[in-house]
Amino acid sequence: MSSLLVATRNQGKVLELHAMLADRFDQIFSMRDFPTMPETIEDGVTFQENALKKAREACAFSGMETLADDSGLVVPLLGGEPGVYSARYAGENAGDNENNAKLIAELERLGIMHPPAIFVCCLAYVRPDGFEQTFIGEVHGVITAFPAGDQGFGYDPLFIVNGVGVTMAQLPLEQKNRISHRSLALQQFVAFLKDT
Ligand code: IMP
Repeated sequence: MSSLLVATRNQGKVLELHAMLADRFDQIFSMRDFPTMPETIEDGVTFQENALKKAREACAFSGMETLADDSGLVVPLLGGEPGVYSARYAGENAGDNENNAKLIAELERLGIMHPPAIFVCCLAYVRPDGFEQTFIGEVHGVITAFPAGDQGFGYDPLFIVNGVGVTMAQLPLEQKNRISHRSLALQQFVAFLKDT
C-alpha cells in the first residue's frame, strides 16, 4: 500500500493536493497526523531550499514519502521581493492586508506602476530511500495598486493574471485552482508519477 505525507498544516492545500493525488496513493496524510513534529524553520533564500527543507525534515520524522511546498510572489522590479518572505513581508506577524499595503507602498515609493509579477510554487518530493525531486509552477501577471475581488487569499487581489485581465481574487476558486502556480507544479508531479 502506498502512502504520501503532504507536509502542510493548511487544510485548503491538503484538499487541493488530495483531489489530484487520491488515485495515485492509497492513503494521504498531512501534518495534522503528526502533531508532535517540530515546525520547520524556513530560512532558505529560495522557494526550492525551503520546500526541500520541509520535505526532508517531515520525511525523516515520519519515515514516509513526503511532498512539501513553498510559494510566494516575486516582483522582479523589486529585486524579487517579497519572494520567500511573502507571508511576513510587512513583519513576522503581518496579515494579508498589511503585506498588500506594504507592497503598494514600496511600488509607490519607487514610482513603479503595474510591474510584472510571478506567483511561484515549488513542490519538493522526498523519499526515505534518499530520492529527491522538485517541481516548479509559475503564473505570470502584473500588480495593480487597486485591490479587486474577494476570493483566494494573500496577494490575490493585487495580481492581474496575464491573458485573463482580472485579478486572481476575482476568479472563482475552481478556476484559480486550475491555473494556479500550485496546480501547475502539482500537474508536473502527477506527470512524474505516471512516468515512474
Ligand atoms: P506559503 O507557501 O503557503 O507559506 O505561502 C507564502 C505566502 O505567499 C502566502 O502567505 C501569501 O502571502 C503568498 N502566496 C502564496 N500563494 C499564494 C496565492 O495563491 N495567492 C496569493 N498569495 C499567495
